[in-house]
Amino acid sequence: MRIFGRSEEEQPDPVLEQVKNKFSKIQLPAHVFETANKELDLLRRIGPSTSEYTIGLTYLEYLASMPWNIRTLDDLDIYRAEKILNEAHYGLTAIKGRILEHLAVRQLNLNKQPRILIIDDEEIARKNLKYILSKENYMVETASNGSEAIDKYGISDFDIILTDLRMGGMGGLEILERTKSQATNTEVIVITGYASIDNAVEVMKKGAFHYIVKPFEAEDVISSVKKALKKIYSQKETKGPVLCFSGPPGTGKTSMGRSIARALGRKFARISLGGIKDEAEIRGHRKTYAGAMPGRIIEEIRRVGSMNPVIILDEMDKIGYDVKGDPASALLEALDPEQNSHFTDHYLDLPFDLSEVMFIITANIAENIIDPLRDRMEVIRFTGYTQEEKVNIASQFLIRRQIKENGLSVHPPQFTTEAVCKIIQEYTREAGIRNLEREIASACRKIAMDFVQHSEKMEAVTITPAMIEKFIGPRKYYFEVAEEKDRVGVTTGLVWTDAGGDIIFTEAVKMKGKQELILTGSLGDVMRESAQAALSYIRSNASKFGIPDDFFEGHDIHIHVPAGSIPKDGPSAGTTIALALISLLTGRPAKRDVAISGELTLSGRMLPVGGVREKVLAARRAGLKTIILPAKNKVDVEDIPHEIYKDLTIKFADKIEDIIDLVLK
Ligand code: ADP
Repeated sequence: MRIFGRSEEEQPDPVLEQVKNKFSKIQLPAHVFETANKELDLLRRIGPSTSEYTIGLTYLEYLASMPWNIRTLDDLDIYRAEKILNEAHYGLTAIKGRILEHLAVRQLNLNKQPRILIIDDEEIARKNLKYILSKENYMVETASNGSEAIDKYGISDFDIILTDLRMGGMGGLEILERTKSQATNTEVIVITGYASIDNAVEVMKKGAFHYIVKPFEAEDVISSVKKALKKIYSQKETKGPVLCFSGPPGTGKTSMGRSIARALGRKFARISLGGIKDEAEIRGHRKTYAGAMPGRIIEEIRRVGSMNPVIILDEMDKIGYDVKGDPASALLEALDPEQNSHFTDHYLDLPFDLSEVMFIITANIAENIIDPLRDRMEVIRFTGYTQEEKVNIASQFLIRRQIKENGLSVHPPQFTTEAVCKIIQEYTREAGIRNLEREIASACRKIAMDFVQHSEKMEAVTITPAMIEKFIGPRKYYFEVAEEKDRVGVTTGLVWTDAGGDIIFTEAVKMKGKQELILTGSLGDVMRESAQAALSYIRSNASKFGIPDDFFEGHDIHIHVPAGSIPKDGPSAGTTIALALISLLTGRPAKRDVAISGELTLSGRMLPVGGVREKVLAARRAGLKTIILPAKNKVDVEDIPHEIYKDLTIKFADKIEDIIDLVLK
């Protein structure tokens, strides 16, 4: 059948025409343009009645919606950036300083005006090239042969050297060789009037970036220079590691990432890696699968509509090992500047350039990130806040924010410092401030509710400690340490978990049995081994502590670490367990307010532990008086500002024998 003189086959498909139209309005990279055209051709051939047509159409729509040529312009004024970081975050001075340095170096590297050296014995060629390249805003110098170039300028200061091949004096080949051996970051483009295949092969073999034949077109030279600069910059970025913010939850890692995006004027996206089960979540599914989708990185870039956003990859240390595929290698490809200009997403099925994205990683414990990924990162440590810092953050940031969010700006409530302290001590136990903000939000909601129910009494309230229970319910935490008595067989220890530092109690009891060591309380393998080692140490040194040699005969020993739902592992409880046993076997009660952290060897030496700062903060939160650490941890304590442990006594020891009297009564 013919419609208006055309066969049915010739009638253009209006849907595909629309898509084609969309593509014509965006500037696409050549390889995308080609793929889109091929797909359009295919769809034209197979027609709308097939399922492939729908899949293909969705794919094309997706391609058209990517921000191929859209990017924000980095606008980094370091003073403005500092102001933005300060506006959103209290304290964190060292961290902010490190971030600003990182941004400044990055910016300097990227913004430096490229320097180009032209070496040619023909004056007209020198003039021409200088004119063309100066117009592109490059800094250009010229020399009439190799020796002059070296005498006058040296070669290492230039990003690109454009050199003729045959000149009087030192020729292009020698310049190329010298550059490649002395200035590895400089690219050489050879321009010659004596073109031959042999010549071309030789200069390319020797490491030239490009070979241009005279007479040349200005555009060819400019395009070649641009490509060479791109290569140089991608290598420069290689040297700048990816920032990794590591620390307990609620210490400001994600919000700092958001502030960095603001400071740079870039779009912001966050991808949580915590629950990732499948590599496809990062790389997408092939489009032939029903309901196939691109991976999260591509999807976020599309959502924010920019090729150069700041993307936070949250909880990198929580990528599971039992996942499908290999998400770590997909992430490595995204982060590695050598590979990320052609990242493969299975859905897009095209190399995608991620090199302009600024990735920031977060982790609770950076040490848990697998090595190949961690090697690419510069770790910046966020630590838990002290009570004083929390009070300041609450009064300068959290309360203001919650007042605004809960519509209380007209009659803003006042929280007294004592009330905030009460919330911190009795309603939260955390290194960061997430729960603190939650509790403040909950109080603000109650006040808002009161205002709505009793509008006649609407006036600003002052919240005192006595009113806290009314607003946010009964107390949630007690100072177990300060409020409990010293007991035989129970010692206090310090652990370092994903959530920051915490205190634990180790309980030991002895009963009739068959010489078994029973361990309970969600202990990991390393902690179980520490307990075994502690027991062996005491059995082999019993007389030293006044314990009968045969104490284990006809008995079982049970060691329990309460708060069983929290999985605990790590070697640092060795000393705590040994002291619980010594307390049990000597009948001397252990002091509750003295906490110990230290790995124990079979010969009774105390080995250093990790997370000292977090442990010190946890000790203060719990109201402890003294903590005992291995002598080798002295350096870690010296790194902590004194005000953080001002009301704590910290003692150091090399051997467990030396601390018995400090811990046991
Ligand atoms: P993380 O990513 O470390 O878990 P977030 O960045 O989500 O923590 O921070 C939790 C909340 O605490 C956010 O609302 C953040 O603005 C706030 N916050 C954290 N640290 C500070 C600080 N130093 N000053 C002001 N607010 C902070």
